Amino acid sequence: MKVAVTGAAGRMGRLIVKKVVEDEQLELVQAFDVVQTGKDAGEVAGIGRIGVEIQSDIKKLDADILIDFTTAEAAVKNTQVAAERGVKLVVGTTGFNDSQKKELEENCRRVPSVVSPNFSIGVNVFWKIIEFAASYLHECDVEVVEIHHRKKKDSPSGTAIKAAEIVKNVLEARKRIVELKFCREGLSPRGEEIGVFGIRGGDVVGEHTVYFFGEGERIEIIHRALSRECFASGAILAAKWLAAVDQPGIYSMNDVLGF
Ligand code: NAD
Repeated sequence: MKVAVTGAAGRMGRLIVKKVVEDEQLELVQAFDVVQTGKDAGEVAGIGRIGVEIQSDIKKLDADILIDFTTAEAAVKNTQVAAERGVKLVVGTTGFNDSQKKELEENCRRVPSVVSPNFSIGVNVFWKIIEFAASYLHECDVEVVEIHHRKKKDSPSGTAIKAAEIVKNVLEARKRIVELKFCREGLSPRGEEIGVFGIRGGDVVGEHTVYFFGEGERIEIIHRALSRECFASGAILAAKWLAAVDQPGIYSMNDVLGF
């Protein structure tokens, strides 16, 4: 599998470059970013020279698969070029607004794609645990709180929004209609809602807590990412899983992990 990476100079992209180079089934053929262009992607990733230069023009994309960890705006454009060329996609970027999400999905549907706001295996198990808990604790008040490093651009995180949506879907199946609430200020009595809040500071890789508040008791389900390795490993797993998939469409880590 010939792999291209977009966002190759970023925190996630550098790790992906390293993992693709280390993998025997994958070959890094292209690296894209809008910074550090002209530099060797391996040197930027801290693994020494690999002979793949970081370039900025995505129209030069020529690979079997593109792994994208960039920004919402960039990911929409990158996936459009990939879809036009029949390049399979692994998309980890988050922070899409509604119209970007629609465009992204239209692009990704045209080729075999794995799209996930969180590629960590632990987080995907965490989402399953939340689904299970919500089905038994459907009368509880549920709130989601996430903590990330000070440089994270979007808030709340895609992982937190997905956790809240999982609970929302379970409650709605039981005829309890709730809204996601991203902000409380001033007079804001709790309604039929799931609060989703982001805290930012320091170098926290990612921490998500889902609270189920009952009468006289509380359950907290927590996932803590201690390094970005878990996201990168999951993305690589998804890329290798896609090698055997020819049917275009958007797949999730549930499919990759066989849940
Ligand atoms: P980062 O800011 O360190 O890296 C993003 C990189 O994308 C930067 O180097 C930037 O220059 C580059 N970029 C911007 N526009 C581009 C374009 N048009 N073409 C190519 N490259 C471009 O951010 P990060 O921490 O690596 O995170 C990247 C994204 O991945 C964010 O949306 C983040 O929320 C998400 N993320 C997802 C997961 C997951 O498991 N799905 C895990 C961690 C981060």
